[in-house]
Amino acid sequence: MNFENFILPHIWNLKPYSSARDEFKGKEGIFLDANENPLGSGVSENWNRYPDPLQLAIKDQLADIKSCSTNQIFLGNGSDEAIDLLMRMTCQSGVHNIILCPPTYGMYEVSASINHIEQRKVSLSKNYQLDVEGILQTVDQNTRLLFLCSPNNPTGNKLKRSDIYTLIESFKTGFVVIDEAYIDFSDEPSFILELAKYPQVIVMQTLSKAYGLASLRLGMAFAHPTLIQLLNKIKPPYNIGGATQEIVFKALNNPSFKNDSVRLILAERTRLVDSLQNIPDIIQIYPSDANFILVHFKRATELFNYLIESQLITRNRSSVALCEDSIRITIGLSEENDKLVQLIKQFYSA
Ligand SMILES: *Cc1c(COP(=O)(O)O)cnc(C)c1O
Repeated sequence: MNFENFILPHIWNLKPYSSARDEFKGKEGIFLDANENPLGSGVSENWNRYPDPLQLAIKDQLADIKSCSTNQIFLGNGSDEAIDLLMRMTCQSGVHNIILCPPTYGMYEVSASINHIEQRKVSLSKNYQLDVEGILQTVDQNTRLLFLCSPNNPTGNKLKRSDIYTLIESFKTGFVVIDEAYIDFSDEPSFILELAKYPQVIVMQTLSKAYGLASLRLGMAFAHPTLIQLLNKIKPPYNIGGATQEIVFKALNNPSFKNDSVRLILAERTRLVDSLQNIPDIIQIYPSDANFILVHFKRATELFNYLIESQLITRNRSSVALCEDSIRITIGLSEENDKLVQLIKQFYSA
């Protein structure tokens, strides 16, 4: 793959900002190079020094965990940063376009709108799978990004792997972005393991879900080293704060929390689905490969408001095409899930 053909020339040729921490990487010495406060921070921990712009300590850990190399990893302030940078790197407003497969994660559309990039939507089928034919008919020579989300948000299901392969092999004008935010809850292998075979694939993951670190904002993109280099070139130099880097480093050293969480959440998901199954006013509980379920209810919006009155907050997706009368429910603690079931039963028996 000749990457240069799919990257905007001004990005390809960009001379990046060179920070003080880029120019001198040593840890020992007297640092009079970055205009920091030498006295400290005035809180118990000192944050007065700029952090590692390339976050190498965390990337070393992630390379082990994800079976890839550090030069295949980009870290961003949430996945949202990677989504935005990918668009700015590949798409010129008024020229290029991207393809989305709704119902799906809303940030692809918002980010494309902010960047004023044409979005072509090819809806999922009724059972929330890809319309491969439709996508390939919609692609043209100016299509630069195809966003696939598997397991998909808000529907919860994984996309058929054979469809993803077909698209990767047929789409020749840009990159296939596979958003694996929920991969830890799924039995599917990650496409990270196939990056060497498919240099046009970009995989996104996040620490916001299974790892329990949503507040720290750490999103990951995995791709060919050439693409990672370009992302690093255009990101804000210190996009991941020092506190985030330190806490993430500790969290990645303790994989059992994530693994135990996934096991518990999946067991709770099964239990919740079982207890919802015998409520007659539920039209459908969609199969889930994620830490949430999408449920088609009778009078969904009324139920949603009823739950809010009892301070139980779910996500009403009723206004989303193909999700009519459906609510997305995150799997909570067992007592929270019990409360939800109890309130739903109360609502329909009133
Ligand atoms: C939650 C989620 C993300 C994660 O976003 P962060 O910015 O990393 O918190 C990414 N993609 C999808 C589909 C999601 O649902």
